[in-house]
Amino acid sequence: MASDTPSLVSLATASSRQSGWIANEGGAPHYLGGLAHMKLPTASELHRALACPASCILPRIERPHGPEAAEGTAIHRYCAALLDGAGRTTALATAPEEYRDRCAGIDLVGMPVCAQHLLASEVCLSYDPATGEGRTHDIKDRAYPLGRVYYGTADVASRRQQDRSVYVLDWKTGRGAVPAAHVNPQLGMLALALARVHGVDRATVALGIIDERGHVAWDVAALDGWALDGWEERLKRLATLLADDPGDPRPGAQCRNCRCFDSCPATTALVRQLAAAPGDVAAAFGAMLTVESAAVAYGKLKQIDALTKALHTALMDYARERPITLPNGYVYGLCESSLEHLDGDVTHRVLAALHGIEIADAACKVKRTVTKAALRDALRPHAHDGHTIAALEREAIHAVREAGGATTKRSTTVKEHKP
Ligand code: SF4
Repeated sequence: MASDTPSLVSLATASSRQSGWIANEGGAPHYLGGLAHMKLPTASELHRALACPASCILPRIERPHGPEAAEGTAIHRYCAALLDGAGRTTALATAPEEYRDRCAGIDLVGMPVCAQHLLASEVCLSYDPATGEGRTHDIKDRAYPLGRVYYGTADVASRRQQDRSVYVLDWKTGRGAVPAAHVNPQLGMLALALARVHGVDRATVALGIIDERGHVAWDVAALDGWALDGWEERLKRLATLLADDPGDPRPGAQCRNCRCFDSCPATTALVRQLAAAPGDVAAAFGAMLTVESAAVAYGKLKQIDALTKALHTALMDYARERPITLPNGYVYGLCESSLEHLDGDVTHRVLAALHGIEIADAACKVKRTVTKAALRDALRPHAHDGHTIAALEREAIHAVREAGGATTKRSTTVKEHKP
């Protein structure tokens, strides 16, 4: 894989430097860069760009947004409307009908934004690595201009008068892994830009990670002046690298959502190898395993894992538009299926009327389930001085154990863990 990587990358790089544009197979030309006009990555692209600067210059294939992105947009709009002071009904009306139940189920009880220091939702910010200045902009829908400036939009941004700091919050709704708040490049850039706008050197950054059940996991971190300077240093270094030589592509977990995946020499070489001789790849992998090389092999496996996930996404996107006929006569493509859901209460009522209560009870099982998150949510309103939620939770779980209501399932698996 490494052997043909440099030549292909330098070809793409040279082409981009000459023209700034490259024809995208079967589509409109894509802007690639050109030193004078390069568009720096946006805040949300920074995680990938810092891990693999070459991804900023390789040709991109824009794919239609899937349902997951549409759902994410609906949730962002709903949260923005709530934070802007709209009532719940008005906020729900901003979401397309198919996502309203999803939005309504979001538990925003722990939202750490207080009205007195809330500035705004959807705040467009920029940071100029040449001057070190931060700015706010009236740009909607992420339509950032070209230029050697980092742009991004904070889902919520505020200035906190009481401790001369700024606050930046980002909602996350997808299933992909998200870097923790204290090392999150998107939050780092946005916090740096806002701190420079207000001339302060402290920031609080927060991720509100909304899962499929509507539970919000909060990850909040404080960034001091050193941490903000660290982000400034990284952003300046990246801008210099992109203007000079971004180097070869560096495959890793970030490949999964990379829009250069189809044009990337590093990933396409591996894909070709996997497609042509998957057994050889497995054999080569097995041969790598020695005491000295096992850690390297594990790193490679994670890269391959990210690549296969990205391949899966690419193939699904392709098949969504153009169904693939398989050798066994099946077709891999969009397939409509339906699963009828019977409402338990209605079914119980109807069966009781038709056949009596015993048959209705037998058909409509009631099984209580509990999760520690649900237990904590139920106890939250009862927490008060001297009885924290954690203490109430400990007490309840202890009592459940004493009553014989807890079992522990033990399993042994190979995974990353602290020794
Ligand atoms: S697919 Fe991976 S290695 Fe290739 S450019 Fe994108 S991030 Fe870099």
